[in-house]
Amino acid sequence: MVRNAPPLYVGQLNTPDSDRVTTAFDGILQRRYYTNHGPLVAELEARLAERLGVRNVICVTNGTVALMVAAKASNLSGKVILPAYTFPATAQALTFAGLEPVLADVDPRTHNLTAATVAPLIDADVSAIVGVHMWGRACDVDALAGIAGEHTLSLAFDAAHGFGCGYMDRSVGGFGRFETFSFHATKILNCAEGGCVSTNDDDLAQAIRTVANFHDRPGDVSVSLRINGKMSEAQAAMGLLSLEDFDANVAANRDRYLAYRAAIRDIDGLTFVDHASDGPSNYQYVVLEVEEHFGRSQEDLMRFLQERDVIARRYFYPGMHRVPPYDTTDWDVPETDRLCSRVLQLPSGDGIGGADIDRVVSILRDAKA
Ligand SMILES: *Cc1c(COP(=O)(O)O)cnc(C)c1O
Repeated sequence: MVRNAPPLYVGQLNTPDSDRVTTAFDGILQRRYYTNHGPLVAELEARLAERLGVRNVICVTNGTVALMVAAKASNLSGKVILPAYTFPATAQALTFAGLEPVLADVDPRTHNLTAATVAPLIDADVSAIVGVHMWGRACDVDALAGIAGEHTLSLAFDAAHGFGCGYMDRSVGGFGRFETFSFHATKILNCAEGGCVSTNDDDLAQAIRTVANFHDRPGDVSVSLRINGKMSEAQAAMGLLSLEDFDANVAANRDRYLAYRAAIRDIDGLTFVDHASDGPSNYQYVVLEVEEHFGRSQEDLMRFLQERDVIARRYFYPGMHRVPPYDTTDWDVPETDRLCSRVLQLPSGDGIGGADIDRVVSILRDAKA
């Protein structure tokens, strides 16, 4: 194999220029204040709350811990319904919070759970529904709020993909009792590692702050269990820089997304997942479904791309419902199985230019059998 270009990866990092990073980190060193609710964390929380249009943002170590501490602080119990088609962290966090994940199927178009996929799973042991805004496309939050209300269940969202996205003209961040975000290095807004919970419920916010800090702080309320979930000043510094660049990063993502969409539409047998067409988006994910008549399977196409240094990824393979500890139940999730065997994510994000997209698309055309 002739290798004439550097590999292109899914999950490119947004990189602020190094002099801004140096200035921010010099400030941390001068203050000699590295962690424990420092000034940069406070500033990031205030800016995120403003940006999301919510009353409270609590920054924590990562997106998984965000969901763990928010679930604990909400006093959820027993079973929680979530989509089978998601990153494993959604279920793992709930399991760590002492809950029992119940996996719902998703809609074939939106890749999100719906009132219809949730309804058959509701029984007396279910206390909550946790939706995931897959690829940043918001769940049908009104329909989910309807079914949650009917059965007096809590509703919350894993919005790890969803920073800057919206449902109709409402920003993700204020839906349900709480929403959680990931600021992992590969997400649109990144702290290297990081995450937050957003909520309009002031009492819940205080309970989350209490759970996410192992002991003794003014304002603590009574909670059942506590843990260290604190965000450090270094993480917050990265997050503040990333937030400054956010609009520019979204605009660049949008150009990439539209270029891929225009090109992939012409390739028979590949369906571009146009998740950004339903509402405000951060355009972070370029996703396609490999149809049967493409002539190559998802796995075949992934290998064909990887052999040519385009490191496309199957999402989510083989599917959370098929790996421990969740594979002991025979989940009835045919659409999730279908997606797990069809979906490929293509390289996008910072560092992927127009020529790279042309190269990926031309390999996709060559791959068509
Ligand atoms: C990234 C991600 C998470 C986990 O976030 P971390 O910050 O990596 O812990 C959870 N859920 C979804 C849907 C994700 O994409």
